[in-house]
Amino acid sequence: MEALKPPLEPQTRTPRFPPSAAQAEFAGEPLKLSRTAQNIRESIRADFHLAPVPDEDIYEASEGRVLTRVHSYRERDRAIVKRKKKSHLKKFGRLQCEACDFDFLEQYGERGEGFIECHHTKPVSDLQPGEKTKLSELVLLCANCHRMVHAARPWWTMEQLRKALEH
Ligand SMILES: [Zn+2]
Ligand SMILES: [Zn+2]
Repeated sequence: MEALKPPLEPQTRTPRFPPSAAQAEFAGEPLKLSRTAQNIRESIRADFHLAPVPDEDIYEASEGRVLTRVHSYRERDRAIVKRKKKSHLKKFGRLQCEACDFDFLEQYGERGEGFIECHHTKPVSDLQPGEKTKLSELVLLCANCHRMVHAARPWWTMEQLRKALEH
């Protein structure tokens, strides 16, 4: 009796290199790929800037828009965020939320390692032009606590955030 042949593999060529993230994401989904490409083309045509989208959950009063942008910009300063995390890690041995103690590594494992947000506590309006951010003005917050701080104006101080968590 003839042995059953295995079904033909759709992909018979062995790729020479591991697939890139995009290739892996769109593998076997040519429709999804073309739709995505189409969306990108349309966005560019509509003069949509592919800059980071501002956080929709950060409430901005019209007069506060500039301050919010400066605040976000400062919190995204990678060099200072890196220094803050490093100094915190040295001091506490882990990167926990300074308000609720949430620890991304503990909760999510390896993927959460080094993951925490940085909040700038000094109001931008109190900053002098060109003033550098000091490490002492930054606090590490989990994503939830950070969002709650910025969910309404005026933004919560750390005292207000901690108070809200006490129940
Ligand atoms: Zn937290
Ligand atoms: Zn913040």
